[in-house]
Amino acid sequence: MRSYTLTAPAKINLYLEIIGDRPDGYHELAMILQSIDLADQIEVHSLSVDTIRVHCNHPQVPTDKSNLAYRAAELMVNQFPEAFSTYGGVEIKIKKHIPVAAGLAGGSTDAAAVLVGIDLLWKLGLTQSELEELGATLGSDIPFCVAGGTAIATGRGEQLAPLSSLDHIYIVLAKYRSLEVSTAWAYKTYRQQFGSSYLQDDSLTARASKVHSGEMVKAILNKDVTEIAQKLHNDLERVVLPEYPQVLQLRELLANQQQVLGTMMSGSGPTVFALTESEQQAQTVKLKIREAIPDKDLELFVTKTTTHGIQINS
Ligand code: ATP
Repeated sequence: MRSYTLTAPAKINLYLEIIGDRPDGYHELAMILQSIDLADQIEVHSLSVDTIRVHCNHPQVPTDKSNLAYRAAELMVNQFPEAFSTYGGVEIKIKKHIPVAAGLAGGSTDAAAVLVGIDLLWKLGLTQSELEELGATLGSDIPFCVAGGTAIATGRGEQLAPLSSLDHIYIVLAKYRSLEVSTAWAYKTYRQQFGSSYLQDDSLTARASKVHSGEMVKAILNKDVTEIAQKLHNDLERVVLPEYPQVLQLRELLANQQQVLGTMMSGSGPTVFALTESEQQAQTVKLKIREAIPDKDLELFVTKTTTHGIQINS
């Protein structure tokens, strides 16, 4: 039986701007996405029976069809029925390190790893852009998770333009284990509260003039961490922070640490992150937050930016 082990990194949003509604019901977005070192480990194994099986060490993660990794395998079965009948079924083992429902694209990166893993198992030889295209049919964050690094994501988040890579920026991540924010709720609430400011004119020129991510892009191109930290932005904070005072408090606590260059919520939350200049400073921030909030429900991680998406280990 053949098998592969893959590393599936999480992402943070350095920038998230909601531009308007789309005819397909999604939102038109302008995001800057960044891969981080915090990653799940995914194993894909060939099975002698024609079935898909998912195992996960995290009790909150489903192992049925509602798991995005399962759906990625199912997509491959439907797209490549001949390879499925030649090579048989797939067993997927997920070792979860990325917090669940955290705004860190945990499910999306697992799904991206499954696409890459099955491509290898079935010797399909798909290109990165073919894998990204397949991923986009399952979820908007999946194409970025395949490619990784630093990228501007537009459309509903699936149209990617890579940016120069940002390596070794240290990050503290903070998330209450028991707190989950539904991405669908966050976007729906944003639309209800702020939808009147959406762009009505659908033209590309009007869209381009509405996006304010240019200064962040400049900071990234200059690899200026202080500037990047100052330009962090996330429209969804406007709905999530008032609804979740614990997240607001955590964000304020992080922002007040001397070593923190900037802080922001990632995606639809509830994870908040802080950028620091060095690993030592990130460790100091982690200790200080732990002292201030000894509650074991609070998970804290020190991680760093990384330049890659899905990696094949063996
Ligand atoms: P995003 O940042 O893309 O919005 P997220 O990090 O907020 O994603 P996930 O960790 O992907 O959220 O989990 C969202 C929900 O999806 C969870 O409630 C979980 O039950 C379900 N889920 C399905 N597949 C997975 C998976 N492989 N890993 C984690 N959660 C999964």
